Amino acid sequence: MKFNVEVGPQFEGERVRKDDLYIEFGGPKVGAKVELATIKKMDEVEHGKITIIGPDIGDLAEGGSYPLGVQVEVAGPELDKDMEPVFERRIHQYCNYIEGFMHSAQRNDVWIRISKDAVKKGLTSLEEVGKVLVYLYPSELPIIEKVAVTFITDSKKVEEFLPSALTVYKERDERVKGLTEEVVDEFYGCTLCQSFAPTHVCIITPERVSLCGAVNWFDGRAASKIDPYGPQFVVEKGELLDANTTIYSKVNEVVAEKSMGASSVFCLHSVFGNPHTSCGCFESIAFYIPEVDGVGILTRDFSGESVNGSPFSTMAGELSGGKQVEGYIGMGVEYLRSPKFLKGDGGLRRVVWMPKVVKERMKDSISPEMFDKIATEEHAKNIDELTEFLNKVKHPVMSGEFS
Ligand code: SF4
Repeated sequence: MKFNVEVGPQFEGERVRKDDLYIEFGGPKVGAKVELATIKKMDEVEHGKITIIGPDIGDLAEGGSYPLGVQVEVAGPELDKDMEPVFERRIHQYCNYIEGFMHSAQRNDVWIRISKDAVKKGLTSLEEVGKVLVYLYPSELPIIEKVAVTFITDSKKVEEFLPSALTVYKERDERVKGLTEEVVDEFYGCTLCQSFAPTHVCIITPERVSLCGAVNWFDGRAASKIDPYGPQFVVEKGELLDANTTIYSKVNEVVAEKSMGASSVFCLHSVFGNPHTSCGCFESIAFYIPEVDGVGILTRDFSGESVNGSPFSTMAGELSGGKQVEGYIGMGVEYLRSPKFLKGDGGLRRVVWMPKVVKERMKDSISPEMFDKIATEEHAKNIDELTEFLNKVKHPVMSGEFS
């Protein structure tokens, strides 16, 4: 198959920086962005069909940020609905095979950057990207027989598409409710983000969704079955070495091997000691605030500065790249609902600040007692205001009674 730009795993990890940027789709400057993979019946997918709704790359002004919806429809006699998230995450991998094309984040956080060089070489249409996806899906995952791709760049149409995608994400996230780490025999790992973060390893348990929020325990299980030699794999638990911060012996062994020795101990549920590594795709950050001995939560879509004065981009730059940075973890937002959320640190009783929109989204998972004690940007814009608020509401961190 011939493309205008080169395509192959050698381009995974290639960054498109500001000076080389032609245009971007999605990302922090754009509200309407989404990607979704859907399994259809064999007769519902016209293999190779690529549809573009709205202006194409070549029609858009250089330097701009534009809305984008990507829908990948796949079919095959052996496909199962549970495989959809696995196929959706491959959008990230396969798009990053394209020279001068950088895909990051996922779901309704997706961010794509296209370089000037790639456009000069002929990447002037999303059709080219669609052709790459149509070529790669069945060749990398033979269980897929048909693929059709739709790109939506019309802002109104992306907005119309978004609610149905959000419903699908919610249904997927809810499947793991009630399943615990104790009752399953194995966890799953993912190293897909090693192209950008070479020592990063995601450990996905029933009570810890991936950092990108797009891979839960069921998705990890489905992915490891579909493609046993792929980026998602089975992780045996081994012996529970620390029930509080949650350290398992075999998890440590896998992390040491997959991170090429960079990390050898992983606390699954703590920001202290040896926290989970962070790639760059995380939906949110949990960060320690020493002045109040509490933990703040900052999400990718929060446009202002967090209560400690750092915007998301600054904080993300400090912890990304596959490092273990004590006091910080990248995390999927749904991890906040987990009964094991930062279990080793006091869980939600240790949380002192989060954006208002996140607090509202998590309302049904935060106890009424704690709900009014967690500050948002409306209560505190800096550490002094936060301290005052926490004292006023008698937050557990102020008396040290959070465990
Ligand atoms: S954040 Fe984790 S689960 Fe998601 S793609 Fe990256 S390595 Fe895989």
